[in-house]
Amino acid sequence: MRVALRTALPVSIVLLAIVLGVAPAAPEATEEWFSTGLYPRVQQLLTPLTNAVPFALFDLLTGVAAVALVGVLVGGARQAWRMRRAAPMLRALARVAVGAALVYLMFLLLWGFNYRRVPMTERLLVEPGAPLPEAVVQLGLDAAARLNALHEAAHGSAWREPPWQDAALRQAFTAVLRGLSDAPPAVPGRLKRTVFGPYFRWASIDGMVNPFGLEALANPDLLPFERPFVAAHEWAHLAGYADEAEASFVGWLACMRAGPGAQYSGWLALFWQVSSEVNEPERARLAAALEPGPRRDLDAVVARIRRSEWPWLQQAGWRLYDRYLRANRVEEGVRSYGAVVTLVLRARFADGWMPVRRGGG
Ligand SMILES: [Zn+2]
Repeated sequence: MRVALRTALPVSIVLLAIVLGVAPAAPEATEEWFSTGLYPRVQQLLTPLTNAVPFALFDLLTGVAAVALVGVLVGGARQAWRMRRAAPMLRALARVAVGAALVYLMFLLLWGFNYRRVPMTERLLVEPGAPLPEAVVQLGLDAAARLNALHEAAHGSAWREPPWQDAALRQAFTAVLRGLSDAPPAVPGRLKRTVFGPYFRWASIDGMVNPFGLEALANPDLLPFERPFVAAHEWAHLAGYADEAEASFVGWLACMRAGPGAQYSGWLALFWQVSSEVNEPERARLAAALEPGPRRDLDAVVARIRRSEWPWLQQAGWRLYDRYLRANRVEEGVRSYGAVVTLVLRARFADGWMPVRRGGG
């Protein structure tokens, strides 16, 4: 009986992980029980705890996982060698499989189910179809005009404090979340350095959320005017908006309602996004619309990326992320980044850039 239980438990853990991995998505149910139900409550508990720790918990967790993995495999191999039998090695592999299944179940329960919620385009009033190319260029020109107008105030006033201590940005973020859903609003996370910082640098990744600690990790090289938007984007992930475009949209909306420094940061990110989606002559037209101040900032971002990136690693990194997104059923993979422009252009807004929800709810 005890032996049967000892096998039954690990086998059912692996089976459960497989079943949840392939189960058909139920977006409405997931939105209800997880993304606006269980998840925000877990986040409100976990993020304040990880905020209290100055280092990235992610580093500790990945370190412990790596040591455990090597320990189990080396132990199994040694025993197999001593006994001249394969059984100990197979047992070690089985243990690794159970461990991986547990990690996957934890991932789903702590954050990962957010990939299966109802898409923003179905919860907000969004005009169907793609925006017209002229509208995209016009958005880039609008962004350039805002950057020109905000540059002085932004550089004069902002960035003295880290984004998670910027009261205006925090309030703006909370207001946006309240506008978007009835879930309790998420707690903003401090942007932490991580031992994976060099990898972020080489692969030109701005930041990520640790799904097991619900903490925000950032590229150590981010420039002061990049940080408010990156912070708000990661906070949107912490609020359960797993999709990249949705996180950028929420982050941008929060920046729009905050002080000039954060507004500048949001418009700069949107300008960058639009510039990457238009053709060469249009890109030149957008660049020409920038005054020297914002152009210097943009050049500084380009220089930051050029200085440190390893193109092959960047491509490999994005390919890996693409595979990760597809495994989590984001059909567009990394291309979903571009959808933020569609959301900005096609969503209906009330005053102060507040998107209008569907069904008046
Ligand atoms: Zn992101």
